[in-house]
Amino acid sequence: MPVNTNLEDKVIVVTGGTRGIGLEIVKELAKNKAHIIFTYRDKSKAEEVFQEIEKLGGSAQSVYLDMTNISQSKDLIDLVKGHGRLDGLVNNAGISVDQLLLRLKESDVEKVLTVNLKSVMLLTSQLTRYLMKSDASSVVNIGSVVGLMGNVSQAVYSASKAGLVGFTKSVAKEMGSKNLRCNIICPGFVETDMTEELSEERKQMYLDQIPLKRMGKAEDVAKLTLFLLSSASSYMTGQVLKIDGGLYI
Ligand code: NDP
Repeated sequence: MPVNTNLEDKVIVVTGGTRGIGLEIVKELAKNKAHIIFTYRDKSKAEEVFQEIEKLGGSAQSVYLDMTNISQSKDLIDLVKGHGRLDGLVNNAGISVDQLLLRLKESDVEKVLTVNLKSVMLLTSQLTRYLMKSDASSVVNIGSVVGLMGNVSQAVYSASKAGLVGFTKSVAKEMGSKNLRCNIICPGFVETDMTEELSEERKQMYLDQIPLKRMGKAEDVAKLTLFLLSSASSYMTGQVLKIDGGLYI
């Protein structure tokens, strides 16, 4: 029997939808007929994404949101309110500021924890009342294998992503009886702007440790996100799903 990933009539929010993994998620959702509400910081990029969604036959709305200032999420909340319910939320927007432990700066610690963890928790909380109005809603958090295994120069980033694991499991336990599922995807090294910054030497070091001998593609993560948002995964909640070519076994 084919897996049913049809998201027709589903309203789904994706944070950071204009590039990298978030953009691929938006495209995958458009192909599967969801109504997408994606957040952006650059209006011109959002216009380009609209054109892509249109080509794929999808429908969307977009809204400005800076995750360093989640108190200004009113416009997003109002858009969701207009639909009367929310069926899915993908907490994708995230940053990495790599630094050796000896050189940690308070401003970097604050920024990474704010964007990757604090704002995700607050936004999810703000949207929960609308997620509860759906017959079956699904929250997908984008974590990282680094949050499970740790990494040199990524103490803060890995702490933020490890925090998301605890948050995911708690939401799953608290909201399961309201038909709200919550899972976390932990990608390994994926080809996006975030990993583009790595030196060739570092990339080769990671590749040597990946049994599948390649970096992941944003599409790989998007397909798993689609599965977790769809009814195909309706009996899964509180799960930590690694998608890393076997990097962390
Ligand atoms: P990119 O750097 O390509 O994209 C980051 C996304 O986050 C962009 O959409 C960006 O928006 C958004 N973003 C960053 N800061 C803010 C902010 N202050 N407010 C709103 N949006 C913001 O990274 P990826 O696509 O690779 O990363 C997506 C997610 O996947 C992140 O959570 C990351 O931690 C996670 N991840 C990535 C891995 C990888 O190897 N690439 C591995 C494991 C996890 P804008 O375009 O406006 O800057």
